[in-house]
Amino acid sequence: MGKLALHWQILIGMVLGVVFGTIMSSFNGGDQIVRDWVAPIGKIFINLLKLIAIPLIIVSLIKGISDLKDISKFATIGGRTALIYVMTTVIAISIGLLLVNIIQPGNGISAETLEQLSSAYSEKASSKVTAAQSQQTKGPLQFIVDMVPDNFFAAASSNGNMLQVIFFTIMFGISMLLIREDQSKPLKAVFDGLNDVILKMVDLIMLIAPYAVFALLASLVVETSDPELLIALAWYSLTVIVGLSLMVVIYLMAVKLITGKSPGFFLNGISPAQLLAFSTSSSAATLPVTMERVEEHLGVEKEVASFVCPVGATINMDGTSLYQAVAAVFICQALDYDLTFGNQLTIILTATLASIGSAAVPGAGMVMLVIVLEAIELPADKLAIGLALIFSVDRILDMCRTVINVTGDATVSMIVAKSVGKLGDPDVKNWDDNYKE
Ligand code: ASP
Repeated sequence: MGKLALHWQILIGMVLGVVFGTIMSSFNGGDQIVRDWVAPIGKIFINLLKLIAIPLIIVSLIKGISDLKDISKFATIGGRTALIYVMTTVIAISIGLLLVNIIQPGNGISAETLEQLSSAYSEKASSKVTAAQSQQTKGPLQFIVDMVPDNFFAAASSNGNMLQVIFFTIMFGISMLLIREDQSKPLKAVFDGLNDVILKMVDLIMLIAPYAVFALLASLVVETSDPELLIALAWYSLTVIVGLSLMVVIYLMAVKLITGKSPGFFLNGISPAQLLAFSTSSSAATLPVTMERVEEHLGVEKEVASFVCPVGATINMDGTSLYQAVAAVFICQALDYDLTFGNQLTIILTATLASIGSAAVPGAGMVMLVIVLEAIELPADKLAIGLALIFSVDRILDMCRTVINVTGDATVSMIVAKSVGKLGDPDVKNWDDNYKE
């Protein structure tokens, strides 16, 4: 596979994985062979990516900030990032709402399908409601409190605490800027070296990416049950997918208009991260690759990429927020629960907050959907039926929305970089799979 560009290698791995999974599930015992002998390769790959995430954030953010020379620039980057992240999220939700109100996918669902789906998935759906309840007991400022760790090692010991690690690292980097240059120089040299080593580790992990996505997709196919139920939800799935595709068009237009870079350039640079997002359903697991691609292939300088990408992976989820808007209205349509205009505005607000609060892991968007549904006062019994209704297609939609989450982060990185004069040419010397337009 040596000569093919990385995204082609990954794509071939994915297709072969689906074919292999389909063949293996067609005979007795085949699925067990995939579970025992193939699935572990995918799990090892995801573990490796997660393993590298926290060290990568720490060293690259410290290097990024200490290269800045000027703290006020960091404040500008932070402010613009937050603003653009909120803007893209609101655009995504508005597109979702518009489409679901036009297409009305929930109106054609028959009573039997509703019954069939909700009884098949009621148990699984109720686990999402329980998970959401633990999120809700928190006060309004709790998310800021949660960002400030009381113990560095405790924070760094869980990938779910990414924002805490970012908080500590930013303080550390800024403090490095505040001491004399001769004092910080040795430390800076250490972090520069560490940064190179960790990026090399990402390269090494990526060597197994094509085989890992093969394993991930093969195991996904053998776990997928009852394709007929999926067809019943075709209009709903299609609404989400059309919305997500529109977001891609918006990103490409924004990149072209604001940074002048062509869609081909952008997609060539970011596609391996997109394909991994699709295969893993996790923006957190994809983060090391997103960061590497954004820096080395899209030309975003480390000062921007090292901040915008990890923050984006944690809080910017345009795909998730669009899905939450569509799913919320779809459930109300299917269950004959009338929504007022005010309810739709509530969806915009709560889906923005819910997508910020969603963890960057598979299935998290559905947990936070509970909060959106409760905000529009959907009764508890309908809520449970509603979640069970969409459960069967959630994994595939999760894969698609994670692609958009990652693409959104890359887009915003480029826009912020351009706005602060930190968008250069890609680091050609580090290219292993040449970009050719
Ligand atoms: N899986 C998504 C992500 O990691 C979150 C979600 O929508 O469930 O970005």
